[in-house]
Amino acid sequence: MTTVGILGGGQLARMLALSGAPLGLRFLVLDSTSDACAAQFAPLLQADYRDQAGLAEFAQRVDVATFDFENVPAESARWLAERVPVFPNPRALSVAQDRLAEKSLFRELDIPVPDFADIGSRADLDQALIRIGVPAILKTRRLGYDGKGQFRIKTLADVDAAWAALGAQAATVGLILEDFVPFQREVSVIAVRGRDGEFRTWPLTENWHESGILSASLAPATLADDLAEKAVAHARRVAEALDYVGVFALELFLKDGELLANEMAPRVHNSGHWTIEGAETSQFQNHLRAVLGLPLGSTRMLGHACMLNWIGTLPSAAGVLTNDCGHWHDYGKSSREGRKVGHATFRADSLAALSDALQRAGRALDREAQVAPVIARLGG
Ligand code: AMP
Repeated sequence: MTTVGILGGGQLARMLALSGAPLGLRFLVLDSTSDACAAQFAPLLQADYRDQAGLAEFAQRVDVATFDFENVPAESARWLAERVPVFPNPRALSVAQDRLAEKSLFRELDIPVPDFADIGSRADLDQALIRIGVPAILKTRRLGYDGKGQFRIKTLADVDAAWAALGAQAATVGLILEDFVPFQREVSVIAVRGRDGEFRTWPLTENWHESGILSASLAPATLADDLAEKAVAHARRVAEALDYVGVFALELFLKDGELLANEMAPRVHNSGHWTIEGAETSQFQNHLRAVLGLPLGSTRMLGHACMLNWIGTLPSAAGVLTNDCGHWHDYGKSSREGRKVGHATFRADSLAALSDALQRAGRALDREAQVAPVIARLGG
């Protein structure tokens, strides 16, 4: 009997546990809260990520450890890695946790990035703005997610407000200034690398955000083949440089025919949820196969898929359940503003059938604005 330990007990851990059941796996989830939604399907060890006694018990009860949450302290991951195999490795985790370290790595690997600068003080910010110009985005280096810990500097009149909002964090989590990219599209590569170095990607995904949170994903992204190949080559270089094992996402902006890397997520990713119904093997099962050293499954896509995120509250399930193309996911969480509480994936054999399913879903769920950009992309 193999037990996979997961640090973090959110919906990603929940979907990992669900996809691991057919493989006969057991799970143990470490989370600091008692109502972690993965605990509805896997035993929970309630402890803080820094609690050494909790980590020691976790290490004793699992055969291999992985993450649903990328902000597990790097020192906890390192401590654990001395006692049990941890994938992805703690160095990969620590690079991906830090926007400055990951952008520096991308640059070293010849992967284009938006111009950026390390910001340690207000003087650094003023200096960097002379070089990078406005508009720009000030972000925390660590612990930001879903658009949190970011301030858009549209004109120089915004600099005082940006510093008032984030300046204090220069000394704690660090800050980075990035050039604001007026991109035409956002895409992500979901990739998996096995313990033996085998590397696979799913077809590229196009993503739409609402208030900094992923709202919809479409796969395969309708992108020229050479761009898709470039995106995959970027992901492979990152995976090999970090000796990465498991699934990760590389988020890219497409601007005027060029791909610029925004960030990587060292875990299964929201923009890969469509792989559950839309691919031969889901990102969740392939992540488990990778960390366990099992053969990777085919990442071949089955037709076309669109995922819609449910943020804050769930719409009526019936609008998805009565749709022939619809697949409903309720994470078993209570409603809260900005919280990811579920998603739906629509899968169809043709672009026209997917567009039709989305139009019906938009009306039935009262989410016409959410489906509109995807339908427009599908030519509907
Ligand atoms: P992030 O947390 O870096 O993924 O940022 C959240 C969202 O903000 C991204 O998905 C983009 O829509 C937007 N964003 C982040 N960085 C930039 C940038 N340098 N230029 C333009 N938009 C950005």
